Amino acid sequence: MSEKSLYEQLADKIMVPGSKLIPELFAMLVNEDEARILLALPGFATELAEKFGTSPKDMEAKLKDFFHKGLVFKSIKPEGVKYRMCRDIVQFHDATILWSGAGRDYFDKWQIFMETEWPAYAKMVESVVPRPFTRIIPVDRSITPRTRILAFESAREVIEQNDTIAVTPCTCRLIARKCDSPVEVCLQVGKAADYNIERGTGRKINKDEALEILVKSEEAGLMHVTMNRSHDMHFICNCCGCCCIAMPIMIEYGTKMVDPSRFLAVVDADACQGCGTCEDRCWFSAIIVDVDSAIAVVDAEKCMGCGVCQVSCPEEAISLKEVRQKEFVPAA
Ligand code: SF4
Ligand code: SF4
Ligand code: SF4
Repeated sequence: MSEKSLYEQLADKIMVPGSKLIPELFAMLVNEDEARILLALPGFATELAEKFGTSPKDMEAKLKDFFHKGLVFKSIKPEGVKYRMCRDIVQFHDATILWSGAGRDYFDKWQIFMETEWPAYAKMVESVVPRPFTRIIPVDRSITPRTRILAFESAREVIEQNDTIAVTPCTCRLIARKCDSPVEVCLQVGKAADYNIERGTGRKINKDEALEILVKSEEAGLMHVTMNRSHDMHFICNCCGCCCIAMPIMIEYGTKMVDPSRFLAVVDADACQGCGTCEDRCWFSAIIVDVDSAIAVVDAEKCMGCGVCQVSCPEEAISLKEVRQKEFVPAA
């Protein structure tokens, strides 16, 4: 028999062995009997009912409760609905923080995890995965000429291509509260939108509202982030550099959590007036006004190609230049 507690076994199941805080977070969501059911997943309600000596109806109700808490996901099979537990810590984070019953104490424990255990865990993940799971996409109204931007790197195209769109609160800002950036700006499309609408964690919106959210995010200095592949995007995150699950540890520890876009900021020295707005807006300290020339200078090594500086330059002195081939974005 395992010497680990049930909650430690749940932490193992989402690939965070040895964590002190993840078991404590599970303990805030389920009791020990419920933890045993989670550990027995994946499965159908009928087979789980038999295994745990309860009625299929009661087991179905229990699994639905887990679904609303964000602990399990459903997949429709010919035999019925099959339930599986959240796959990894990011799913556990994103799904359970949006649960309507999650309170400040739950958020605060997550934030302690983010500040104490997460940086080392993220470093370990970086060492074993070939590429980051997400990538920055540029503010696409900042690209000149317009035709250089491809569909898979345009937040507006992702919105246009999907009929079902939902907006959810930004889970990172809900727990961290380090800035006053807008919170209800995480855009989900397609199946991810369906999932959040069914759970009640996302609000169904039309394309016009989604496009307004993109503009609002850009004006607030948030960066568009999506999946690191060239098709079938599920979300457009609008991230800040202070609360985000990924950006602060890239900035602080250099952990490669997000790929850059294919673009680089370029300053027109003749147009720049040295106002410093770009410097204030860049999360990566990649653009700085040179003290001698009073002209903004971009550090190509640090620039992530987000375009946040470009949209706020009062002199329109910044453009984004394509510096990586389209093959830079993984096909799958
Ligand atoms: S990844 Fe970005 S937008 Fe998504 S929840 Fe975190 S900070 Fe918010
Ligand atoms: S915001 Fe524009 S004008 Fe101001 S320093 Fe930056 S590049 Fe120059
Ligand atoms: S200089 Fe900074 S704000 Fe501008 S595109 Fe690069 S990373 Fe983004």
